[in-house]
Order: sequence, then C-alpha cells, then structure tokens
Amino acid sequence: MIPYGRQEVTQSDIDAVVDVLRSDFLTQGPAVPKFENAVAAYCGANEAVAVNSATSALHIACLALDLGPGDWLWTSPITFVASANCALYCGAQVDFVDVAPDSFNLSVDCLAEKLAIAELAGKLPKIVVPVHMCGLPCDMVRIHQLSQRYGFKIIEDASHAIGAKYQNEPVGNCRYSNITVFSFHPVKIITTGEGGMALTNDPELSDRMRRYRSHGITSDAGKMEPRPLDEIWNYQQVSLGFNYRMTDIQAALGASQLNRLDEIVAKRHAIARLYDAEFADLPLQPQVQSLGAYSSYHLYAVRLNLERTTLSQREFRDVLVAKGVGANLHYIPVYRQPYYCSMGFQAGYCPVSEQYHREALSLPIFSSMSISQNQTVIEIVRGILT
Ligand SMILES: *Cc1c(COP(=O)(O)O)cnc(C)c1O
Repeated sequence: MIPYGRQEVTQSDIDAVVDVLRSDFLTQGPAVPKFENAVAAYCGANEAVAVNSATSALHIACLALDLGPGDWLWTSPITFVASANCALYCGAQVDFVDVAPDSFNLSVDCLAEKLAIAELAGKLPKIVVPVHMCGLPCDMVRIHQLSQRYGFKIIEDASHAIGAKYQNEPVGNCRYSNITVFSFHPVKIITTGEGGMALTNDPELSDRMRRYRSHGITSDAGKMEPRPLDEIWNYQQVSLGFNYRMTDIQAALGASQLNRLDEIVAKRHAIARLYDAEFADLPLQPQVQSLGAYSSYHLYAVRLNLERTTLSQREFRDVLVAKGVGANLHYIPVYRQPYYCSMGFQAGYCPVSEQYHREALSLPIFSSMSISQNQTVIEIVRGILT
C-alpha cells in the first residue's frame, strides 16, 4: 500500500535524537529552546512556544487570548476536529463558516456575511481560526481586515502549513494573526513524533502560553507574589496550567528535520505538479492554488467531478485501495461528527463543505515518495477514470 502520507526519518535525525538520549536532559533542556528559536527564525516570528501537540497549542492559544464561557470561536468545517475542540476546552462555543469550493479553505465571503449578521445579533466571535487546508494559505489579508472591522482575534491553524508561503513570506510570521499553530505529528510536513508549536509576535501572549504549558508556574521573580526572604522555593504557580511540554528528544528530532524543510516542500511540489499535469483531463478537480500562495502540500486533495463520472467517491476510493493506493478523506465536516450533531448542528448547515465531503479524496504525497510510486499512483488513477 502506498500511504497518503508518511514521515521521513534520516540517519542525521536519528543521530540528533541519540545525542539527547546520552545527554543530561530528556525534557525541557537546551534542545527545546533551540528548536523554538530555529522555527521562529525560519518563520520570522518573535516568539515560539513548543508543546506536545498542535491540539495543546490551540488550547493554550485560546486561553492566552482569554477565550471563555459566553465567547464564540469560528472555524472551517473542513478541518481536523482539534481546530474546533479547543474552544470547547475553554468553555466557549463553536460555530462554522463554510469553505470555498475551489480553495477548500474558509470562504472569506461567507465569513464577511456571517459577521455582518452576528454583529446585528450581538454574537460576534472572539476568535476566528482559519485553517490552511492541505498547506494552502488562506486569504489572510482579507481575514485580517475583517478582524479590524469586527474586533476578533485570529489563530492560524497552520498544522498543515509549515514551509508554506503567503505573499512570499513564511506562514508563521503572524503578520496577519495573533498566533499561528503548527503540528509535528508524523503525517505532517516535519515531525517530532507528537508535537506542536505556537508562534506569536506578542511577548505577553508567549509568556502566558509558556505558563499554561507548564502548570501555570513561573520562575520569573518579577512575576511572583512577594515571599518571605527565608523561603527557598524558586517558582510559584500563579494560574491554572497543564503539562503540555515537549521533550528534548522530540525537539532534537524536530530541529534536525527543520534543516530539510525547504527540500521536503520542494519535493512535495514536484509530486503535485506531476499529478496536476497527468490528471488535467480526468474528472478530478485539484485544489486551486491562489495567487501569491505557496502551499506546503501536506495533502494532495482532489474533488471527484460526479457529473463527469459514473463512479461514486466510495467506489473510486475502494478501487484505489484495492489496487494499493492509500487514498483517504480529509475531512468529514466537523459539525457532522456525532458529538457535534448532538450539540444541534444539522445537515445542510454548510452546503459547500458537505458537497466537498461527498467528492474529496487525498492521494499519496510525501517527501520520501519514489518516482516509481508516483508513476504507479498516476497509472492507477488514470486506469480507473479513463
Ligand atoms: C493534525 C491537525 C491538528 C492537530 O495536530 P496534533 O499535533 O495531532 O494535535 C489540528 N489541526 C489540523 C488542521 C490538523 O491537521
């Protein structure tokens, strides 16, 4: 089976991890800040906070932006559930903005329309989470303009998009957002096993996220309550936090992988360009790449044009899998998950997302994919659809 995605671990990655295993620190030693600084420098952000998953990063990002009961967070339905769950962790409520049929990203027109209605109803969101679906950056300039007009904060869920560029600048620089989140799950662009990171240019937000990452504890004397001089404790818990820390073992792997990031993304582009060319005459609609956006191609998602084929999405996928191509669906609209249905979301709520759900498939793309694997996928897809 050729999987839809797969990590690539090299000998230098292994050596970097082994060095940590032989060192004095296994967790939160020197490797974590080194990895944070390397990612911040790559992206052009001031601050980076490494955590044990992107899910944790989304959670502490919401907390740092003061999301709580009575607040709303809006995101795209075509995403992994974590983009929405983070609001529920904070006791806030979630709502969804439909996607655009060509970019598979949150539709800024739908967002603008929904904001105008929400303003009248007095139910504006506190946070909007644009998701860079498959690694393709959203239209951040327009989303940022709307945030100025309506006063919401922006967390970019860039779990798919480290190594992507928007207007020739790296995703993660937070030029048009308050916080950007990356995932280092093995199926994403670069990996730490499990892991994530939250980037920001605001030192107060990064301070708060660092505290939430580690039990709400500070060891900065300036931030502690006054203590008797004879006390020997050198830290204080000043708020409620979690253990969301990344280990040095993970950070060393991530830093080593980061060295190859541009190469990895270039490789993914080469695969995507070949697919684009070879599938152009088939009833498949690839994700339309917007002007000025350079995707990281975490996923190569296509929509099956049901008017031009007698195959259903399910049949197409089953034949692909039977022939050894690990095609997958990303994603079921979040509000169609049973847990969200039980909150009252109904079928038909975001029609474009639901249409996407009936048509979409992700085809294999990963940096260690060989030319022959790439050709095999092309031949099998063409064999099924022509
Ligand atoms: C993978 C993913 C996450 C969660 O990442 P973890 O590191 O596994 O917690 C969140 N959002 C999106 C869009 C993702 O694809």
